[in-house]
Amino acid sequence: MSVTKSTPLGEVEGASMRKITLIIIHCSATEAGADFSAFDIDKWHKAQGWSSIGYHYVVRLDGTIERGRQESEVGAHCKEHNQHSIGVCYIGGLRNGKPADTRTAQQKAALKALIAQLRTRYPNARVVGHRDTGAKKECPCFDAVHEYKEKVG
Ligand SMILES: [Zn+2]
Repeated sequence: MSVTKSTPLGEVEGASMRKITLIIIHCSATEAGADFSAFDIDKWHKAQGWSSIGYHYVVRLDGTIERGRQESEVGAHCKEHNQHSIGVCYIGGLRNGKPADTRTAQQKAALKALIAQLRTRYPNARVVGHRDTGAKKECPCFDAVHEYKEKVG
């Protein structure tokens, strides 16, 4: 788990965990009912010239949670926020080509469980949607800030 590597600039990228201030929720911008895996997204992102899948977790239609990048690795999912965030992507987000909250009941349950687990590791992180970061996108096509507001008590 603890790997230290040198960047081309000669900086040492620590193995120690990054400081995480945001958990950013995404959709894959694919049609409702069409299932894709972390492996598929890895292929798409590599085709864009990225080193690997940009997200840390993928939530499939049946609620299966698949791992993308390691949490200690900087993701590639949200401009200007990758350094200090974890990226979670559910499969879906489009209905008839239009942005829509297409999450299945299983995906909702899996997201809730995953976020609860991440919160135990990053108690100070805020949960937001991609669109809440200033991105000119609908992603993830629902109000993540409202839905995952920390429960008090
Ligand atoms: Zn997004």
